Amino acid sequence: MLEDKDRIFKNLYGFDDWRLEGARRRGAWDGTKALIEKGHDWIIDEVKASGLRGRGGAGFPTGLKWSFMPKEVGERPHYLVINADESEPGTCKDREIMRHDPHLLIEGALLASFAMRAHVAYIYIRGEFFRERERLEAAIAEAYDARLIGKNNHHGWDFDLYVHHGAGAYICGEETALLESLEGKKGQPRLKPPFPANCGLYGAPTTVNNVESIAVVPDILRRGATWFASLGKPNNTGTKLFCISGHVNTPCTVEEEMGIPFVELIERHAGGIRGGWDNLLAVIPGGSSVPCLPGDICRDMTMDFDTLKDLQSGLGTAAVIVMDKSTDIVRAIARLAYFYKHESCGQCTPCREGTGWMWRVLTRMAEGRAEKREIDLLFEVSKQIEGHTICALGDAAAWPVQGLIRHFRHVIEERIDSYTKRAEPGLTRMSDTLEAPLAAQ
Ligand code: SF4
Repeated sequence: MLEDKDRIFKNLYGFDDWRLEGARRRGAWDGTKALIEKGHDWIIDEVKASGLRGRGGAGFPTGLKWSFMPKEVGERPHYLVINADESEPGTCKDREIMRHDPHLLIEGALLASFAMRAHVAYIYIRGEFFRERERLEAAIAEAYDARLIGKNNHHGWDFDLYVHHGAGAYICGEETALLESLEGKKGQPRLKPPFPANCGLYGAPTTVNNVESIAVVPDILRRGATWFASLGKPNNTGTKLFCISGHVNTPCTVEEEMGIPFVELIERHAGGIRGGWDNLLAVIPGGSSVPCLPGDICRDMTMDFDTLKDLQSGLGTAAVIVMDKSTDIVRAIARLAYFYKHESCGQCTPCREGTGWMWRVLTRMAEGRAEKREIDLLFEVSKQIEGHTICALGDAAAWPVQGLIRHFRHVIEERIDSYTKRAEPGLTRMSDTLEAPLAAQ
């Protein structure tokens, strides 16, 4: 369990003052100049040594990502872009940072930008987050007024920070789509390579990082990489914001140590499972795009990147969605399939066509109007989508379906059996609603 002294987000619930004065009381902007004076490479080395892995879902080592930026600034400026597009269903952590502790993010943006030799950073904020944007812009104005950022600031590194409001498309959370959108174009992912570190915003070297990844940087540098690395587990270090939703007694967002046992996380912070542990059906441990896990597996797992990967799921954004036995798991996954179908940008055939196909099949399966052989077909189609698209939305659409079939095939089969018993003689399950209306015309 995380001790209070190790907490980074001390105003996660907004009980204290979010403004500069309150942030300073909690330790923000303390000794920032001294950290900058240690140099670009020192900061990158500290972040590498801390073991910090990106908090936006992929878990890529942050310091390593920063080291991909060119060491010298040539004709093209360097940019830091902060991904505040938080749109993954179940995820609600970055918004708490932006509205309750925005100065952690602003100070982190300065330090990260300095490390990568960038004088300008952008925060790309989700379209629906207009209150968070107001709060963030007010905090940035305070930082300018106090000459913490801006030209000729107290820290000796000229730095401008802009907030850019998105228009509410999930796909703009993908880093290349985000950059396209920031440039004023249609927010669609582009093929990599080139990677943003070589050719990003306006064709210049760019690093895109998640809000939480940047907001923890000042504490890592102030308290030391060793302190951060001492929390959590090897290769899964530090603290993490978990967003717990669904069928728990007290849904919440909470900062905890990486690698906390799932049962402890739920019991200590979310008041336990609604109706008790025997009522647990399944958990989506990392936001809607990761495969669900059945209750019996969840009871023994710890919440970190490597454990969940070994269980064929993922920590993702650490958005823990709990489902009790009142859940129709097939319908729930069908609803997620609809979301990904809706959010597909349509560039790649497997994603454009496959997401809609999976949704239609799952909708029938939720009612039992399917053939059992279609279960394998659905799994196979999801495999044909996974890894065959420009961006990760294809994978995100495929994985929940795979998790459903891997762990809840019996539910689909029982649904089909029960429909068969109820079905009118002569009704064909695959085609009854698709073709019956046509036949009636
Ligand atoms: Fe667009 Fe889907 Fe292709 Fe991503 S995978 S680029 S969302 S069509």
